[in-house]
Amino acid sequence: MKPSDSRTQLHEALLQWYAERGRPLLWRRTPGDPYQVLVREVMLQQTQVARVERLLPRFLERFPTVQALAAAPLAEVIRWWQGLGYNRRARLLWECARRIVEDYGGVIPSDPGLLTRLPGIGRYTAAAVATFAFGRQDVPVVDTNIARALQRLLAETLPPRVLLQRARELIPPGASVQWHEALMDLGALYCRKRRPLCGQCPLRSWCRSAGREVQELSSGTRGEPHFQGVPRRLWRGRLLRLVATVGRITLEEVAAALFEAPPTPQQRRWLRELVAGLVRDGLLQSRRGWLMLPQ
Ligand code: SF4
Repeated sequence: MKPSDSRTQLHEALLQWYAERGRPLLWRRTPGDPYQVLVREVMLQQTQVARVERLLPRFLERFPTVQALAAAPLAEVIRWWQGLGYNRRARLLWECARRIVEDYGGVIPSDPGLLTRLPGIGRYTAAAVATFAFGRQDVPVVDTNIARALQRLLAETLPPRVLLQRARELIPPGASVQWHEALMDLGALYCRKRRPLCGQCPLRSWCRSAGREVQELSSGTRGEPHFQGVPRRLWRGRLLRLVATVGRITLEEVAAALFEAPPTPQQRRWLRELVAGLVRDGLLQSRRGWLMLPQ
């Protein structure tokens, strides 16, 4: 932001743009209760927005309350998670629901400090739930997109703690929810990781980076193991889908289903590691030579 421009003008510019042009996402048209916000934020951790919009209603129809989710068998939750990927989240969300029922009488806490003590809830998700479910005004919500946009706006690379502090100071009074939603849209639509669209950006007059070569200010991407050109998460998803479909299956049958020809020693090794990882994450059970969803 240029020093001569006030923070109020910046707020007005972004909030007005958001009111007119923000993305009409499902949960903005029909904001849910705190449980629904929690479920959607866990889904959004690692699944694209469009896919969450498609699969969230189905999941909520099957598990309409935190009590319903907590009471369901884990295998059922994993089945209904299919299509969202990163299935470990299904188990963590289920454990989270059980803890909320047992420790909080089924009421989702609004305090980010309490939320981060629940399974599967990191600092970002806790902040998002506190803000979007409870309208907290003092909690900055900073995901990768928002971090990138803020740092470009300020033309500074900031350590996480300082970035959070700056983000908190920037929250406009009484408009935290809209502000964060607007920042998310800004990051997704204009302030993209590569080739940001500065010429069309509603904040170009305030941005210290606009029109200049924008450096990559976001944190580095984490590498994911691949096998035969396919990321591990997709292999895990395939394997779980298979088990969910047939009920129980042997390792040999899995190998026959996943690989076209008789598996090579390398493919067998990969498969064994895949199964071991899923068992470790509590998503699969291995009993007397059979693989099945947790009972
Ligand atoms: S002007 Fe460019 S760098 Fe600045 S916030 Fe907008 S898109 Fe990002």
